[in-house]
Amino acid sequence: MSGDKKECGAKSKVLGGEQAVADWMAEHTKETGHERYQRTFQDYALVKKAEQ
Ligand SMILES: [Zn+2]
Repeated sequence: MSGDKKECGAKSKVLGGEQAVADWMAEHTKETGHERYQRTFQDYALVKKAEQ
């Protein structure tokens, strides 16, 4: 998660879910007035091998 309004540069640590992200943004907006964030997601896709 990165704050972005004139290269704010604030970054959250890796957050464990939508609610944690929302909390972090709310806090950051309260502290800095920043309102724009770039959200970066990382996830895994699992593909099951077909049974032979
Ligand atoms: Zn910021």
